[in-house]
Amino acid sequence: MKTPLNSSNLQITKNPSPSRPRPNDQLQFGKTFTDHMLIVEWNANEGWGNPQIKPYGPFSLDPSSVVFHYGFELFEGMKAYRTVDNKITLFRPDKNMKRMNESAARICLPEFDGNELIKLIGKLIELDKHLIPQGEGYSLYIRPTMIGTSETLSVVSPDKALLYVICSPVGPYYKTGFKAVKLEATDYATRAWPGGCGDKKLGANYAPCVLPQLVAAQRGYQQNLWLFGPEKNITEVGTMNAFFVFSNPNTGKNELVTAPLDGTILPGVTRDSILELARKRLDPHRWEINERYCTIFELSEKSKNGELVEAFGSGTAAIVSPIKEIGWKNEKIQVPLSPGEETGPFTKEAAQWILDIQYGKVTQGNWSET
Ligand code: PMP
Repeated sequence: MKTPLNSSNLQITKNPSPSRPRPNDQLQFGKTFTDHMLIVEWNANEGWGNPQIKPYGPFSLDPSSVVFHYGFELFEGMKAYRTVDNKITLFRPDKNMKRMNESAARICLPEFDGNELIKLIGKLIELDKHLIPQGEGYSLYIRPTMIGTSETLSVVSPDKALLYVICSPVGPYYKTGFKAVKLEATDYATRAWPGGCGDKKLGANYAPCVLPQLVAAQRGYQQNLWLFGPEKNITEVGTMNAFFVFSNPNTGKNELVTAPLDGTILPGVTRDSILELARKRLDPHRWEINERYCTIFELSEKSKNGELVEAFGSGTAAIVSPIKEIGWKNEKIQVPLSPGEETGPFTKEAAQWILDIQYGKVTQGNWSET
């Protein structure tokens, strides 16, 4: 019988030299890490080994390990928050576990019981909880990762893997209030395609997107707005899901739009949360909420007609990232912002919905796990 991932087999080796928390203004995303990491080895004969929490530090891997040659790597991005009443909570971690297992299945890495990994992450952050910063927007970024470690140059299903989790204390994405971004609508490079694996969080999806981002940056844009197909459907923005608010002069309603989960879109936890809250909280007489594609041509047309009301990206890092301009060929599609602000009103409201749940000001079903 192969051993399942079991949090009760956890072995802990404490870091003999614990670090002191850095002042909030010195937190840099993903640059500094907590004192401990979680690692669990897997092999095809025995299943999961005993989970171990150890001092944070380098691994030693054989240079032939399949991760280095064929991209057997997947990851997740989630956060732990210190609530207003000083509890430590995770935001919808079950969603990250589900997505992680789907990523694993796609590249022949082992699946596991997500509840067991949540318990192990709980133990990991408990040990380093003094390093979780306080304040709205401050959190502990958690990076669960899995790699194939079989020592072979053959392209085969890995018979060895390593699951590990590292954590980085982080500050708010926008330290001085929102900053709306300019995007370059990108059709010469494609992030994801039908039958591909753009809906999985595989490292292999990310490296090829950096060059188009640098090219966009040279032209004065912070991120790519990824288009797909001859229709030029808008799929995602950088590493975020894309949302638009349109006004519909025929119905008099606003429409909240994001691309459908058709296999080319990463199923964002923030995307799902915004959609669910919008469906619960927005007045159906004034709002329509649709998971549908809109094309860059529709966006351009609506902008000219004054029907493009707001645009933003959504993701764990920033919650929302307001968009103010989209460069498309020789056109500059302008997105309105609230007067004197770097965001539109719905974008701001959606961010606050999520922040209030994450920091324990509002309870929403079982979205927060303590
Ligand atoms: N799209 C892509 C391509 C991403 O990498 C991410 C970040 N995981 C997202 C969207 C947003 O997902 P989430 O809301 O789960 O962070």
